[in-house]
Amino acid sequence: MKIYADHAATTRLDDRAYEAMCPFLKGEYGNASQLYSFAREPKKALKKARETIASCIGAGPSEIVFTSGGTESDNWALKGTMMFRKGGVITSAIEHHAILHSCKTLERLGRSVKYLPVSSSGVVTPATLIKNLSEEVKLVSIMYANNEIGTIQPIRELARISHQHGTIFHTDAVQAVGHLPINVKEDEVDLLSASAHKFNGPKGIGFLYIRKGVKLDSYADGGGQEYGLRAGTENIAGIIGMATALETSCNLMQERTAHIISLEKHLLNELSAFGLDFIRNGDKQHIPGNISLSFRNADGEALLHRLDLMGISVSTGSACNSTSTELSHVIEAIGLPNEYAFGTIRISLGYENTLEEIEMIANALRTILSA
Ligand code: PLP
Repeated sequence: MKIYADHAATTRLDDRAYEAMCPFLKGEYGNASQLYSFAREPKKALKKARETIASCIGAGPSEIVFTSGGTESDNWALKGTMMFRKGGVITSAIEHHAILHSCKTLERLGRSVKYLPVSSSGVVTPATLIKNLSEEVKLVSIMYANNEIGTIQPIRELARISHQHGTIFHTDAVQAVGHLPINVKEDEVDLLSASAHKFNGPKGIGFLYIRKGVKLDSYADGGGQEYGLRAGTENIAGIIGMATALETSCNLMQERTAHIISLEKHLLNELSAFGLDFIRNGDKQHIPGNISLSFRNADGEALLHRLDLMGISVSTGSACNSTSTELSHVIEAIGLPNEYAFGTIRISLGYENTLEEIEMIANALRTILSA
């Protein structure tokens, strides 16, 4: 039996999304930018997908630009804002590498970057942001929710503070979109990154929300697609799949969240009942099902492999650095004591996980850790 418990890394393609994509992979293969009637269906579907996605996050359709995923959206938000602007950036120490490495590039171009520390539960406090803001800062980029420990940031407050200082506010919402109710207008964010494969959409497709009026340099120059901001023939099937998956996730969010939270509680109760010595990382406000656990005097990577041999897929930290045995930058930033830090695994549950699977994960951990 295989148990998949790494939904923060990626998710299975939703059946409805797959069905919606099929016609555009075969019969309806026309180029949406062409004027003839064969392009009509792809063009119509593209427009509808943009409207659907926009309405899921409270945006206008003209504020959604399609990208190849979270990494591209993050790179574009940062470099597109700062490439031709003087000044500095504020981000946090626990961002995804798509943000941190983009910041390194900006530093090489002479921009200054401040990496804000976080609390022991992984929160960027408004007070920390206020203390670090200055006239020089032109962009603040703080993730909506962390991929390794699930902590949700006080985005609305951080965005408001940034605006009070005349600064553009971007959020990497890759872990949040489709899992939390998001309204970009209420949150007052200027730029927001999302990726379809985190909410049961296809891989290699995502979007960047660009609030009307925010000036961003183009990501790719060419044929003028995506309002001239991101040229290239559109990935119609991917876009349709993403829109269908997001609409489904938003419609079913409440019931899926309730199920996932009940599984999460059960797992934690079981592990405590077994008397295992562990810390659950992250904040009370966290992505449902994102469970980062640090077991005392354990080896996270060895745990991952032992679980894998038992048919259970979990992660040690972020999927993107799963080959590295170094302590993750997130675990380092929250200041866990070493005897726990190196024994960290991330179990991330999805709506398809069952109570039976949770029991099997808990029992597997007991077997490994009690040996
Ligand atoms: N940002 C966060 C918070 C993520 O968790 C990820 C993926 O793990 C990304 C960005 C990158 O997204 P993508 O895989 O679509 O490039």
